[in-house]
Amino acid sequence: MSEKFLFLLSGGIDSSISALKIISEKRLDKRDYSFIFFDRRSKISGIKTQAAFKKEKKSAMSIANLFDKELTILKLPMDWYAEAKKRNSNAFPHGRNTLFLAASSSYAAINFPKSKCNIVVGFVEDEGEDATDEVVKKFNILIRFAFPLHNGGNDQFIKIIAPFSKKNKHDILKYAYKKGKIGQQIIKKSWSCYADGSEFDGKHCGSCVGCLKRKTGFRMMNIERDIEIMDPTHYFSCH
Ligand SMILES: [Zn+2]
Repeated sequence: MSEKFLFLLSGGIDSSISALKIISEKRLDKRDYSFIFFDRRSKISGIKTQAAFKKEKKSAMSIANLFDKELTILKLPMDWYAEAKKRNSNAFPHGRNTLFLAASSSYAAINFPKSKCNIVVGFVEDEGEDATDEVVKKFNILIRFAFPLHNGGNDQFIKIIAPFSKKNKHDILKYAYKKGKIGQQIIKKSWSCYADGSEFDGKHCGSCVGCLKRKTGFRMMNIERDIEIMDPTHYFSCH
């Protein structure tokens, strides 16, 4: 049975370096993998988050292009989240990752019915909520009940893989830099900011949660003396 890998990209560091890890460790051929992005833009207007989604999509596209691949865009407009965001700008997208796991499993089952499909996600330990190793384990059990199985039920047809689910962002950054040029190119093209940069000279704002996590990741890398890396990100504010 052929084996496929679907890499879910968010435009950020974690998902793209997770893809890099699997592609390089398994020495995957370009024909055996694809990059997927969930476009969460809703038709509901007047929400700043929507612009950031567009920016994330652009970053995911350029990261896929580094591997000489196109980005498959799947629309998943979370209208209820957009509505909540309009009422309260701090509304959190609960269950977002669970939706991505379910939607990508459905996509895999429909598009690759004769292949074993590995869906690779960029969950990291400090993300919490539904981006955890426990969710991955339980979801892989759920898949056995919810999706078809091959070989009389002995082969799992779809499997979720989260190579950094027990690691932190700084571990991912260290891994990226150990991979050399490709790791650094990915980091430069990734986008972590919750804004789209239009109000910040095209730069990361430097103060939202996404930017703060990114900065902390780089700062924690420097604790180890053998890796002295400067954060290549352009931040609008350095606080
Ligand atoms: Zn930001």
